[in-house]
Formats: sequence, C-alpha cells, structure tokens
Amino acid sequence: MISFELSPAQQEIREKYRDFTKRWIVPNRLKYDELAEFPWEVVKAAYSEGIMNGPMPKKFGGNGYNIFEGALASEELGAGCIGIGIGIDANTLALTPLLLAANEEQQNRFFGQIIDERGVAAYCLTEPNAGSDVQGIRSTAIKHGDKYILNGHKRFITNGEVASFMTVFAQTDPEKGSRSLTAFVVPANSPGVDVKPRLQKMGQKASVQNEIIFKDVEVPEGNRLGMEGHGFLIAMKTFDRTRTGVAALSVGCARAAFEIAKDWTQNRIQFGKPIAANQAVAFMLADMATELEAARLLTWYAAWAYDNGKRNLSKLSAMSKLYASDVAMKVTTDAVQAMGGDGYSREFHVEKMMRDAKLCQIYEGTNQIQRVVISKGIMKE
Ligand SMILES: Cc1cc2nc3c(=O)[nH]c(=O)nc-3n(C[C@H](O)[C@H](O)[C@H](O)COP(=O)(O)OP(=O)(O)OC[C@H]3O[C@@H](n4cnc5c(N)ncnc54)[C@H](O)[C@@H]3O)c2cc1C
Repeated sequence: MISFELSPAQQEIREKYRDFTKRWIVPNRLKYDELAEFPWEVVKAAYSEGIMNGPMPKKFGGNGYNIFEGALASEELGAGCIGIGIGIDANTLALTPLLLAANEEQQNRFFGQIIDERGVAAYCLTEPNAGSDVQGIRSTAIKHGDKYILNGHKRFITNGEVASFMTVFAQTDPEKGSRSLTAFVVPANSPGVDVKPRLQKMGQKASVQNEIIFKDVEVPEGNRLGMEGHGFLIAMKTFDRTRTGVAALSVGCARAAFEIAKDWTQNRIQFGKPIAANQAVAFMLADMATELEAARLLTWYAAWAYDNGKRNLSKLSAMSKLYASDVAMKVTTDAVQAMGGDGYSREFHVEKMMRDAKLCQIYEGTNQIQRVVISKGIMKE
C-alpha cells in the first residue's frame, strides 16, 4: 500500500522549517536580494535553532536527516528564498563528500570545526574550462612527501568568501588526467588560497559566489578524502544526494509564487470581477497547481528511492532536479504574468522568485546535463 501521508516526525520537520522561514527568511529576503551579501544573521539564527547541517549525523551535531527529510526542509527554505536556502544547502553540498568518503578522524575534525565555528563550507568543482565537463578539471594536487601541493583555478564557488574550508577536486596525476581526480579538504586560511571578489548575478543574490585561485597550497595527506582517483565518483555520488535538494528548493519557490498569484488574482477586480474568474487566468492557476504537485511527487519519489537503496539513483535525482526547476521557472514566470504590473514590481516578491528560479536550471549541472544523465540511466536499464 502506498501512503502519501507524512509521519508525525516528518510533519514536525516541515513545521520547524516553515516556522523558521516565516520568522527569519521571509522578512529578510528582499533586504539580502538588494544587499547581495551572505545572510550571516539568518545563518547564525539557523545554527541556534537547529536548522543548519540537516543531513549531518547527530553525533557530529547535525540533524541526521535522510534525503526525504532533507527535501521537506529544503522545500520550506525555498518557499522563503532560494538564495538564503542555497547558502544553507550549499554547506550540505560541501559536507556531503565528507559524509561519503571521510574517515572518522576527518569527520570529527571537520564537522567539529564547522559546528564550533557555526560556519559554512564550499564545494569547489567548477573551473573556467570545466563546467558541464567535470572531467575537464585541470587543477592539480601533486604529492610531495606527506603533503600535496595544490594549484588551480575554480569559479562560481558558492560560499567561497565565507567558507571555513573547501572541498576541492584536483588531479593527482596529470598523465592519468581525469582518472586521477581526487577530493581534498582545504582550510580557507591556507597560504596560497586567493578568493576573488564576488560574482554579480541575476538572482539568488543572498548567496555569494567567488573565483578561487590555489597557488602552491600545501594540503596535508590527512586531508585527502578517500583514495587518489576516487574524486569523480565522489563528486557524482554527491550530486545523487543533493540534486533532490535543488528540486525541493525549486518546489518551495514555485509554491510560494503560486500562493501569491492565487491570492492576488482572486482579489484584483477588473471588468467588474476578480481576475481569477477569467478562464484564461483560472486555467493558468490550474496548470501551475498541477505542475507543482507533480514536481513535489517526483522529488519525494527520488528522495524515497535514495533512502531505500533503489537502483539507478542518478537518473531519478536528475529527473527531480530537471522537472522541478523547469516547473519553478514556468510557475514563477506565470505568476508574474498573472499579476500584471504588480507581478513585475518588487512589492509582491514574485519577480525575485522568477529571477531566483532560473539558477536552479543551471547549477549542480544544467538541465541539459540532467538529460544526459537521465538518458544514460535509461540506456543502462
Ligand atoms: C550562481 C552559481 C553558483 C554555483 N555554485 C557552484 C558551486 O558551489 N560549486 C561548483 O563547483 N560549481 C558551482 N557552480 C557552477 C555550475 O555548476 C556550472 O555553472 C554549471 O555546471 C554549468 O557549467 P558552465 O557554467 O561552465 O557552462 P558550460 O558547461 O559552458 O555550458 C554552457 C551551455 O552549454 C550546454 N552544454 C554543455 N555541454 C552540453 C552537452 N554535452 N549537451 C548539451 N548541452 C550542453 C549547457 O547546458 C549550457 O547551456 C555555480 C554556478 C552558478 C552560476
């Protein structure tokens, strides 16, 4: 028997994040959209209220959430502001390689540091010549005695300028190329780490991105995650876990835009009746509501499949990210349209949601790349 009812514990997670979003994210979202700064006050409050580090094990100070519980949390954060939500979730992205590949000593050390500092981490995969093509990474980490010397250039790194440490992917053997990709934890204050000024961008302005140059950075062997050459697998397995989070943020954003548009169109009178009484608008709302439900169900299914060890997880997490972010883009765009000039104004927040939604179709692999992953998954079956 299939049940779509949330358990009391799952409802509690949803309520906890919904309440936090209402008190901390909604009142601050326009401010950070204008400031385009990292929302430290919200992140500190998130630490105080047990909102940060959802999937980290409880023994290290996290909430021990599985992927489904994480998706419930991310939908609520996304309903407030994806920009603030991704500042929180990008921390999870950066810590996931540690969950997957760090030994106990490394987990104690690095999770302990993040919790003690109430800080955030950054995930450094993308380079100027390696975006969609992760195997094009050219950063190198060459072994000298008991340390590696890291050189390279990363870009678009979320939380770059505020990170305590970074999870960095580099080749350990240029002759083997991408087959030698390896993951490392690099403290942000290591000599030779140069974080460039933040990226100016369209939406999700409450999250910050930077280029980072690594010049002869000494990384102790004890900071290598897993074996040399396991980096590509770690990066892909990380995305299997986190793409459902991007899907859930997208669902939250679409839900918030839909609710605003639904209320507005029922109250705005033109030609002597509410705007929503026109079938053209009512059908728009019907499509928005239907696509929103479908996006949430696919996200929940992908998360459930992960938690229950089902096969072909890359395909499902890619499907959820692809579909939910496309729905978020369409629903937020329709919300702006349905609300006319008010939709386009800053006052009702849907124009911000539309700008924010766009990025979910791009990061953690563009939606074209999700289709590559899905089609490979289909062929494998
Ligand atoms: C705001 C922001 C935050 C980000 N945060 C992080 C982060 O924290 N850490 C990190 O490592 N990276 C991060 N990224 C990088 C992000 O994951 C990449 O931008 C993304 O994967 C696309 O790479 P690219 O920008 O180099 O585009 P390109 O790879 O140059 O792609 C350009 C276009 O070509 C298309 N394309 C490329 N290859 C194919 C193909 N085989 N088939 C069909 N179409 C294709 C793409 O879909 C896209 O439309 C972030 C990016 C942004 C903008």
